[in-house]
Amino acid sequence: MTNRLPLTAPGHTPRRVMTIAGSDSGGSAGLQADMRTFAMLGVHGSAAVTAVTVQNSLGVRAFHEVPVGVVAAQISAVASDIGIEAAKTGMLASTDIIRAIVATWSAEKLTGRVPFVVDPVCASNAGEPLLHPSALDAMRDELIPLATLVTPNLDEVRLLVGIDVVDVATQRDAARALHALGPQWALVKGGHLRTSRISSDLLFDGSEFHEFAAARVDTRDDHGAGDTLGAAITAALAHGYSVPDAVAFGKTWVTECIRQAYPLGHGLGPVNGMAGLYR
Ligand code: PLP
Repeated sequence: MTNRLPLTAPGHTPRRVMTIAGSDSGGSAGLQADMRTFAMLGVHGSAAVTAVTVQNSLGVRAFHEVPVGVVAAQISAVASDIGIEAAKTGMLASTDIIRAIVATWSAEKLTGRVPFVVDPVCASNAGEPLLHPSALDAMRDELIPLATLVTPNLDEVRLLVGIDVVDVATQRDAARALHALGPQWALVKGGHLRTSRISSDLLFDGSEFHEFAAARVDTRDDHGAGDTLGAAITAALAHGYSVPDAVAFGKTWVTECIRQAYPLGHGLGPVNGMAGLYR
């Protein structure tokens, strides 16, 4: 698997991808990580901002939701002019924002046509909530069924389908339960299974399992890992990669970013979304 996507010739329009996500004032995660990844991969990133978080490396102090009409209008403005060839979601904060995204996706006729990666972000690495607990139902019942791919970590798996992943068998059970919610593919990310020396992500489409494994990198600086993985997968899907190939690409990409993570501030540092510059 190459660690580059095809580059568009200078002066020509690159693939156009959108993130629908929250802003991280510290620049490590959220839409900042998504846009950095998109730029590093040579695609044109657009952004529908859902919430503004007040955070640094020590944690999320507060967040302010963007009015739902403004979230929807950002998506429509981009879809109706620039175009969207693949999209991902990150922090969505509330039921109303999720419902506005679902309605706009259908109004803009993007459903089933544009690859859509749903990263069901529920909390920061430090555990501060980024989604109101009451919004979990809308995430599970309304947004995830629209997804080409849903990419929960193990905490999100527990919240969405009530399964505690502790080994390969429970990871498979979780993949089956997530797929039953209606997405085309489910990716159960094993990165938070810290007892394992391998970080293994399991992909399932209802019939076949695909495993993506990498040696665990011993670092606490992993802020933005989930966003970076999802953004790299989204960029690859915009290039027409199959879902398994896009996940393989994203896994290789984020593993290098985690290997080159750097300290920042007094808390958790970010994965190095710019790692590709050093190759
Ligand atoms: N989006 C925002 C705005 C965040 O603040 C965070 C984490 O703090 C995330 C998404 C998810 O981050 P990660 O990629 O580390 O799971």
